[in-house]
Amino acid sequence: MSGIYSPSRKLVEFAVRLKNAPGAMAKVSSELARRGVNILSGFHTAYPGEELATWGFFVDFTSVNTSPEKVAEEIGKLDVVSEVNFAEAKFDGLIVNDLHFPILVMGERSITLRVETVGDMFGRLYEVFGSGAGVILYEMGLKAGENKAESVCGKYGVGDLKALKIVLAERIAKGWGIPELAEFNKEEPSITIRVQDLFECLPFKGKLRETRSNFFRGYLTGLLSVLFDKKVTIVEVECIAKGDQYCVFTTK
Ligand SMILES: [Zn+2]
Repeated sequence: MSGIYSPSRKLVEFAVRLKNAPGAMAKVSSELARRGVNILSGFHTAYPGEELATWGFFVDFTSVNTSPEKVAEEIGKLDVVSEVNFAEAKFDGLIVNDLHFPILVMGERSITLRVETVGDMFGRLYEVFGSGAGVILYEMGLKAGENKAESVCGKYGVGDLKALKIVLAERIAKGWGIPELAEFNKEEPSITIRVQDLFECLPFKGKLRETRSNFFRGYLTGLLSVLFDKKVTIVEVECIAKGDQYCVFTTK
């Protein structure tokens, strides 16, 4: 939920703190529906056992015969609501979420980057440093992967294969790509991971003659070396950057 651009529409953002209980959202949405306010994109964050939840959303006020102030006041009177804030679009037809900060992903402070921006950043490194860029990105990924292994094991009390599966699932939730464990043998260890639409290689799709991933290759190396307590070396053997269907990483 970052923003909506729709010229000529009257867009408003709401931030509602409401009871973390069945039916709370329904009461708020009924109040909005009664006044002809259409709910657009948004998010709802609630954790088991916590008294309050947060619901942030954009609405379309274009054909509504009352003001956002009035609607916020009415919502605030509901017994399931503890606090209401709203903000009107500051630019014509464009509303940007500036009521909710920071972005938390599974409780951790995060940022979002467009894949195109990553392509610009990583691509510039290759322009300036040539093959040295691969080393820099590999080392960045290596450290991130090592730390990720330690944090997942500590947070969830799991190890090796289960921890690996959690980390791979999180890559989907965080938009890195869709990884799939294609082959796994713990003893060697021998591992093959196939990734669909990997963010690192996507900006270079079909443009190169060689594989492009060094950050994620380093990430997997760091991750697997810690999880299996053994130095592993990961190579990328197929890559969307050179026209393959997937990026495929395997132990050497
Ligand atoms: Zn690739």
